[in-house]
Amino acid sequence: MTGSTPGREKKITVMKFGGATLATPELMKGVARRIVDVRNTGQDVVVVVSAPGDMTDNLIAKAQAIAEFPDEREMDMLLATGEQQSIALMAIALKSLNCDAISFTGPQVGIVTDDAHCKARIVKMGSDKILKALRLGKVVIVAGFQGETEEEEITTLGRGGSDLTAVALAADLTAVVCEFYKDVDGVYTADPRVVPTASRLLNISYDEMLEMASLGAKVLYNRSVEFAKKSGVVLHVRSAVRPEPGTLIMEEVEQMEGVMVSAVTHTKQEAKLTILWVPDKPGIAATIFGRLADEDLNIDVIVQDISEEGTTNISFTIRQKDLQRAKKIVETLVKEIGAKGYQADEKIGKVSVVGVGMRSHSGVAAAMFKALSERGINIVMISTSEIKISCIVEENRVEEAVQAIHEKFKLSNLTS
Ligand code: ADP
Ligand code: ASP
Ligand code: MG
Repeated sequence: MTGSTPGREKKITVMKFGGATLATPELMKGVARRIVDVRNTGQDVVVVVSAPGDMTDNLIAKAQAIAEFPDEREMDMLLATGEQQSIALMAIALKSLNCDAISFTGPQVGIVTDDAHCKARIVKMGSDKILKALRLGKVVIVAGFQGETEEEEITTLGRGGSDLTAVALAADLTAVVCEFYKDVDGVYTADPRVVPTASRLLNISYDEMLEMASLGAKVLYNRSVEFAKKSGVVLHVRSAVRPEPGTLIMEEVEQMEGVMVSAVTHTKQEAKLTILWVPDKPGIAATIFGRLADEDLNIDVIVQDISEEGTTNISFTIRQKDLQRAKKIVETLVKEIGAKGYQADEKIGKVSVVGVGMRSHSGVAAAMFKALSERGINIVMISTSEIKISCIVEENRVEEAVQAIHEKFKLSNLTS
């Protein structure tokens, strides 16, 4: 992010580097040189780093090899160590280039969160320590993804949370733009790993990026986009190794509505549960979804069939990892509410089209469904909002579905 704090002469640039860009000592040294280049343009630099490479995944796997459902407070203690390694190594790399630098953990720079371990929300920021170090001429390196509660308990902000740290710092330091350096050089019309001919977008609105991030485009953490929208920080997703500009995520401008569909996104590893022959009377859905919410299960798409002979089927989707837990709850619910039983579809995924242009163009749903039917891909469920349409399909057809829809809306090779 580049911006100016009142009373400051120099602009502050906040640069966020993702795990893939820090995976090896060589890559770290390259990142350090890039930071020095920006600092040499006369700006103050605040850097936010993720844990190197796959470290967070590896730490989670280690904990799960010990316990199926590890204690969440202790998971935060464990996962916060990944980013702590990155900050120290980056400070070492910068100092070896004769660039004065200092590393801080999230708690050290006053990032205060609530106590929802593993998915904490930021409640307060404090930039005094950062500003003091900048005044001393140092590059400040902050560990992404972490904070602490008022009781000084370490917390983490959810997977991808370093993006949120960067945006929150950008907002707190009154920056105008927050720079994200990644292994991908921008936001594309689909995940380039699934559609190699996908086009890089020059800019995209906060609302579209928020839908994309929430519907599986892991390029930015959805909560970081939400935060940016609220605080008006412009986000810039760009390559960690190439100098060219990437994609700007910003307030909607008029010409964005001219495009019918901006991107196709997807998720895998979801599951569907159907409760059969549910008595069709008021209060039943409230009982079912109330119980699932009490158990902290995230429900995505819900469909209720038309009622026949006083009963109906209710289907909903969840993450595959929550399936066993959900099944146990549903088994009890079936008995309690007098339903006939339930069915589980363990391997489904979701493909979605996103675009603010949908507000003013009709026919998007029809074209999407046609693309799927031409490939013989069955639509299991559908959900829509003002600027997106999602279809649940079999998990092993998800990639093909993304490619078919991307082709139908002619999204390949749109920009350079
Ligand atoms: P970081 O480590 O910097 O946080 P991530 O690995 O979380 O970065 O996100 C970058 C990855 O997001 C890319 O490697 C790419 O495969 C994936 N991705 C998914 N959808 C998109 C998209 N629409 N545009 C760009 N990248 C995408
Ligand atoms: N290291 C954390 C993760 O992998 C946070 C991040 O990289 O944004 O989810
Ligand atoms: Mg990420």
